[in-house]
Amino acid sequence: MSIFTKIIKGEIPSYKVAENEHFYAFLDINPNAKGHTLVVPKKEVNKLFDLDEELYNGLMSFSRKIALAMEKVIPCERIGMSVIGLEVPHVHVHLIPLQKMEDIQFIKKVTLEPSDFEAVAKAIAENI
Ligand code: AMP
Repeated sequence: MSIFTKIIKGEIPSYKVAENEHFYAFLDINPNAKGHTLVVPKKEVNKLFDLDEELYNGLMSFSRKIALAMEKVIPCERIGMSVIGLEVPHVHVHLIPLQKMEDIQFIKKVTLEPSDFEAVAKAIAENI
C-alpha cells in the first residue's frame, strides 16, 4: 500500500483540500511554495500515463478545479503543474503557486507552521 493510499484511508494524517469518489487532494508536506497541493487518484497506479483515459481526464479535470480555487486565494503569477513520481510510486499531480521559475524546480522549499497549512487548506477548500 502506498503512503498516499494510507493518507486517503486516513491512516496517515494530511491537510485535506478536497475529495470525491475517485480523487483526493491535500497539501504537500514539504512544499515548494505555500499552498503546494497534490492531487491523487484513489486507485493506486504508479505512472501517470498508465491511467486509463477516463481516470486520466478525470484527474486533469479535478486538478483544474483545485488550481482555480488556489489562484483565487494564493497571491501568485499562476499555478504551475508538474507530475514527477520518482519518490512516491502512486500518481500525483503537483499544483504549485508560482512567482518565479525556481518555484517549480523542487530545490528551494518553504517551512510552514501547522497553522499555516491548516489555513491555506481551508481557504482553498472554501473556494472550490
Ligand atoms: P515525487 O514522487 O517526486 O513527485 O514527490 C513526492 C512528493 O510527495 C514530495 O513533494 C513530498 O514532499 C510529498 N510527500 C511525501 N510524503 C508526504 C506526506 N505524508 N504528506 C504530504 N506530502 C507528502
